[in-house]
Amino acid sequence: MALRLENRNALITGGASGIGRATAIRFAEEGANVFVADRHLAAAEETAAAVKKLGRKAIAHQVDTSDEAQVNAMVAQMVKDLGSVNIVVAAAGISHAHYGEEGQPDITFLSNKSFANWRKVLSVNLDGVFLTDRACAQAMIEAGNGGRIINIASAAARLPTPGVGEYSVSKAGVWMLTRVLATELAPFNITANAIGPGFIKTPMTAGIQDFGNMTQLMDRVPMKKMGEPLDVANTALFLASEEGRYYTGSILHPDGGIVMQ
Ligand code: NAP
Repeated sequence: MALRLENRNALITGGASGIGRATAIRFAEEGANVFVADRHLAAAEETAAAVKKLGRKAIAHQVDTSDEAQVNAMVAQMVKDLGSVNIVVAAAGISHAHYGEEGQPDITFLSNKSFANWRKVLSVNLDGVFLTDRACAQAMIEAGNGGRIINIASAAARLPTPGVGEYSVSKAGVWMLTRVLATELAPFNITANAIGPGFIKTPMTAGIQDFGNMTQLMDRVPMKKMGEPLDVANTALFLASEEGRYYTGSILHPDGGIVMQ
């Protein structure tokens, strides 16, 4: 059977860890070359090594996706190294501006939220995705071969979550950003979709996994368990592959049923 992403070039931000790393490896299994971008270069190099082991091209690249010049340089570098950007998965993100004692997330209601913490989350989760999508869309339009934009939002895009309001707002913003891009880019045969995962076992959720309040959290999940990074990677693979060609402006939820409740 033909590989589903044969000869495709995929940019994955946040590719050093969790969902981004799993997606890089899953895409490589299906034939894609991967440009692995993250603010942690050594860890991005580990992902790139795993991709190369599967026989694909891989380049690790250090970037802060909230920095406009760095994002534009990242996409230019990818075009120079691999020749094109066919697929982008914008997975770089943060869940809180900072963590308090013992790694516990800093839960503050919006009425007391500092502007600095609000801006920090919005600058990575929303500005960073906008900058990444914009630079990729320009490269895709210029090349004239269409493309796939896949933004990692969250179930939080639909669920107002007390204490992490800036996260929910950033992810709702990513979802609307995706839909606007879908309408604007359709004439160029570029699709734009979002993925809204529920609770997934990654370093980002290591804190909640350790807190001992898992039973309470899992009460909100009909399937009563967390998802794996592979569950999100497979959703991204579907959207990036031929099977997903008629999807645009959608948000898919690998979430064990949280959002339907
Ligand atoms: P993760 O394991 O922490 O991976 C995210 C990677 O992105 C990390 O290497 C992180 O570095 C990096 N990153 C953060 N800000 C960056 C920036 N400005 N520039 C470049 N790289 C940056 O988290 P994950 O769970 O895989 O999350 C991936 C995406 O899925 C995020 O957008 C997250 O909001 C979303 N998501 C996750 C879950 C979940 O349950 N895990 C659920 C819904 C949505 P640092 O470690 O230094 O931050």
